[in-house]
Amino acid sequence: MVESALYVVSTPIGNLDDITPRALQVLSGVDLIAAEDTRHSGRLLQHFSVATRTMALHDHNERQVCDRLIERLQNGESIALISDAGTPLVNDPGYHLVYAAHQNRIKVIPVVGACAAIAALSVSGLASDRFAYEGFLPAKAGARVHRLETLKDETRTLIFYEAPHRIIASLESLVLVMGYERTATLARELTKRFESVRQAPLGELLEWVRSDPNQQKGEIVLVVQGAPDRGSEEGIDSEVRRILTLLLDDLPTKQAAALAAKITGLKKNNLYKEALQIVDKE
Ligand code: SAM
Repeated sequence: MVESALYVVSTPIGNLDDITPRALQVLSGVDLIAAEDTRHSGRLLQHFSVATRTMALHDHNERQVCDRLIERLQNGESIALISDAGTPLVNDPGYHLVYAAHQNRIKVIPVVGACAAIAALSVSGLASDRFAYEGFLPAKAGARVHRLETLKDETRTLIFYEAPHRIIASLESLVLVMGYERTATLARELTKRFESVRQAPLGELLEWVRSDPNQQKGEIVLVVQGAPDRGSEEGIDSEVRRILTLLLDDLPTKQAAALAAKITGLKKNNLYKEALQIVDKE
């Protein structure tokens, strides 16, 4: 028996030894397990001798079953939410249920564990102080390139999930938009037998994946270095940008840059370049 609550439970992304004792205790103790795919999770639960009843909660029925699950939680039952692998809600179902639980003042408890995005980031060798999780890139080339254009100047490290049959196309789009030289790390089959993690310029990663069919198999996370933060090197932070933007509302670009230089003590030339970018974006 566990306290009545909605437990969001992470499960392994490959290696079953990554299940935590707490996850097993919660999965065995709850009244019901809501699983993305009951057959898939059935194998995991059987492996660990967890006998709790399961019910399906996936993208297509989540809204319908949500009310029933909330009612059961309100009646004092405990429910665990799991997905096929890793952390529920990270590119997996569960958002509507967790949202509804909060709306109904039901306690939501995370039972932490594996997440492919965080595992890949931790071994990527790329800046991890600020990062943006982007999920899967669009499947169609046009939409994919468009999405990447919007991310081209993002200075945070970018994390993408990728399907093996699309890895070459996605790397091609990345090279096209972000350039051959931008560093990236391809993390494949993490925690599994054929795990591989390789950091290289995007162009080299593309050539490597093209030339080795093994790299086009399995589950993949791609971690891409952020764009250089030119502004911070020159002392241009969000406050300086705010001042420049306000000045640009009333002044021509050159005068705005000159006045911003007087206010901030930064170089007029750098502020002029930044002002041009702000005007460009507007
Ligand atoms: N909820 C999961 C998590 O916490 O990472 C993600 C589920 S999402 C539907 C599946 C995608 O996650 C895969 O296509 C792949 O991009 C990534 N992924 C899952 N397991 C992985 C692994 N062992 N190695 C590399 N990537 C993995």
